[in-house]
Amino acid sequence: MTKKLPIFIVLLLVALFTGCSSYQPLLADRPIRFDQNRRELTRAYLQDRYGIRQEGVGIQPEMIVLHWTAIPTVEASFDAFYPSELPDSRGDITSAGALNVSAHYLVDRDGTILQLMPDTVMARHVIGLNHCAIGIENVGGTPETPLTKAQLQANEWLVRRLAAKYPIRYLIGHYEYTRFEGHPLWLEQDSGYRTEKTDPGVGFMKKIRNSVRDLGLEPAPEKTAP
Ligand SMILES: [Zn+2]
Repeated sequence: MTKKLPIFIVLLLVALFTGCSSYQPLLADRPIRFDQNRRELTRAYLQDRYGIRQEGVGIQPEMIVLHWTAIPTVEASFDAFYPSELPDSRGDITSAGALNVSAHYLVDRDGTILQLMPDTVMARHVIGLNHCAIGIENVGGTPETPLTKAQLQANEWLVRRLAAKYPIRYLIGHYEYTRFEGHPLWLEQDSGYRTEKTDPGVGFMKKIRNSVRDLGLEPAPEKTAP
């Protein structure tokens, strides 16, 4: 005689087992527009900002930069990155190229991860370093929407995954980027092209650095340029 376990007990055991083994966030592809126009604007950005002349729009990731969108919802954040060209509202950075800003990943407030573009294609998310940096944007960061524990957990999972796949040396918060001025990876040549950043917050960076300490990733260097 065969005994069958009731289905709900089986499901409970599966849930317990997977819960104990490892955390696995939801990761989905949600590509932003990458048409011929964006491709050409990306190539122009690589050439004009960094002096990199190449056929494609590829990068070799050596760094992960964490951000917040300062936009409270995932849909509005996605919509900001979707178009190929900067909107008129970004007059502050259009002089450095019409390519729209974006990032490789967008992490929703519940920890769901959306991949917006391939890891090895250049995104415009950090002055001076886009040629080697993978960007992770977190939805929120306004006073009403501080980053969540679920986002912290998803960022940790993603950093580990990327560090296992690429020779990642640095993990930085966007607010730390100017500390690379004078570093060999810093390629922006216009000293007047800078933006003031506070994302994703000092507290968030402290927590994630603690949680991935075993990876040995380096922080931004002490500033070497005057
Ligand atoms: Zn940022």
